[in-house]
Amino acid sequence: MFSNFIDSLSFAAEKHISQRRKGCDLVPYINHPIKVAHLLFTTAKEYDFELLSASILHDVLEDTCTTELEMRKIFGDRVTNLVIEVTDDMTMTYEDRKRSQIKKAPFLSDDAKKIKIADKISNIADMLEYTMTWSHRRKHQYLEWSEKVVKECRGINEHLDRAFDEIVKEANKTIENQP
Ligand code: ZN
Repeated sequence: MFSNFIDSLSFAAEKHISQRRKGCDLVPYINHPIKVAHLLFTTAKEYDFELLSASILHDVLEDTCTTELEMRKIFGDRVTNLVIEVTDDMTMTYEDRKRSQIKKAPFLSDDAKKIKIADKISNIADMLEYTMTWSHRRKHQYLEWSEKVVKECRGINEHLDRAFDEIVKEANKTIENQP
């Protein structure tokens, strides 16, 4: 329902209120999940409100103090389970979380795979759009790792697959020219 989608926007905005994008202090965190939902709606032509709500909420369990129970009460099981699927285990080290995403990717539900790809597209687009503190090397490492995760998630929505390939191509061409 549209009203639940609006609830998810308001909920995520509150939860991410004091956060800024990693490596990019000027951008409020909430811009990222909004970009992911926007991509799913406009580029990927995904019109399922629960999927769009889950995309708005996809980082609240990982990056804020939101609990699973709190989410279940407000947004129900499907949205919450989708968010859980795309949430990293923050008790693991950074390197282990990155490895685990590649290992878990083939077993995600189709909807979780769509969020994963849109998430990676949004992150790469931010790398190209904003001035970040990341080195060229770190940006290339992020690209390589994203390609490994997305390889396991492709084949569900051709618009998303194409958008991912295009942004990777653009990133490979432009990163070296960035400051
Ligand atoms: Zn994200």
